[in-house]
Amino acid sequence: MEQKSRVILLPCKEYEEEEIYSLLKKGLALLGGVESLIGKEEQILLKPNLLKKAEIEKAVITHPIVVGALARILREEGYNRIMLADSCGNGTTSKVIQGTGMDAYLEKYHIPAVDYKEPVMVSYPQGIQAKEFILPKELTEADCVISVSKMKTHALERITGAVKNSYGFIYGRQKAIGHTKYPSADSFARMLVDLNKMVKPRLYLMDGIVAMEGNGPGAGDPVPMNVLLMSTDPVALDSMFARLVYLDPALVPTNYHGEKMGLGTWKEEEILVLLPEGKEISISDAVKLFGKPDFHVDRKRLRQNLWTRMAKALNLFQKKPYIQADLCVKCGICVNSCPVPEKAVDFRKGKDQPPVYDYKKCIRCFCCQEMCPKKAIKVR
Ligand code: SF4
Ligand code: SF4
Repeated sequence: MEQKSRVILLPCKEYEEEEIYSLLKKGLALLGGVESLIGKEEQILLKPNLLKKAEIEKAVITHPIVVGALARILREEGYNRIMLADSCGNGTTSKVIQGTGMDAYLEKYHIPAVDYKEPVMVSYPQGIQAKEFILPKELTEADCVISVSKMKTHALERITGAVKNSYGFIYGRQKAIGHTKYPSADSFARMLVDLNKMVKPRLYLMDGIVAMEGNGPGAGDPVPMNVLLMSTDPVALDSMFARLVYLDPALVPTNYHGEKMGLGTWKEEEILVLLPEGKEISISDAVKLFGKPDFHVDRKRLRQNLWTRMAKALNLFQKKPYIQADLCVKCGICVNSCPVPEKAVDFRKGKDQPPVYDYKKCIRCFCCQEMCPKKAIKVR
């Protein structure tokens, strides 16, 4: 019988360092130990979610204590070549982590924070959606990646977790350009699956002690989910996240395409969920014990019939971003983040007014909503 994908579910109510350290050690042991995944001489790149500079309590970025506890374990296990980096949506790695506490952990464990400086084109002929990627040189020089994602909602892909965290492998401005190349949720998800298959992170960890619901991934609301999740299968991991928030895992494009393209599985019968002491728990029991039915996430099913296809082609009933004028400080970050060359959001009425959308140009990538520092951009 083929082996099931293991998802380790670590219940955890607080960001308490010793508790997280001990849980992560147990979780890693249940995956066979770090040494079964990563050789001692390998250069490890830790990849947290560092979307933008934000207070830790807002649940925008991976919590520093989770990163710190993992770093401590790696150091204690004798790993000497570790660095940390992300291709942040706004700012550099060192600027985004400055003052969050993550910088202090990196200093304590002698782990450099890398600001990506040089792009390299990497071809991937076997890709189904994407045949090449522009990656940071520093990433291509690492032997392996550990992904440390944050459990959050996402306007385009419904949720962002393990698979989506890998979009931070793409170099700088190329991330915005990627949205114009892969504008639909499906094409974007397939590209992400190709990217994960190419880079092949060895381990995926997800910080869901406090998750983000609602207007994620940059402007939603923090909500306790009280779990850390771990797996070597990012699709299984994301499917567990989806189930815990009562979202059909097959409705998440990265799960759907991830399974079809052989990255992993979202199927219940192919997943084994283990608690920290190694006890197996059924998915239904895990959802009963740790799930949150009122978690604010898009659970709508899109029926694929002639009418919905026509409506999609005509741009009818599509989600769209809009600006809540009273929250807008006219900083222009949304305009700068818009990847459409002619700008689908711009100061069309002058810089003393909030920017205005041109929905005919808008590709619904929601970069503007992700980046707005004032939660002024909503999606309806
Ligand atoms: S990023 Fe937000 S606050 Fe800044 S101009 Fe755009 S809507 Fe206004
Ligand atoms: S306006 Fe916003 S959602 Fe539309 S293309 Fe620009 S960044 Fe993307």
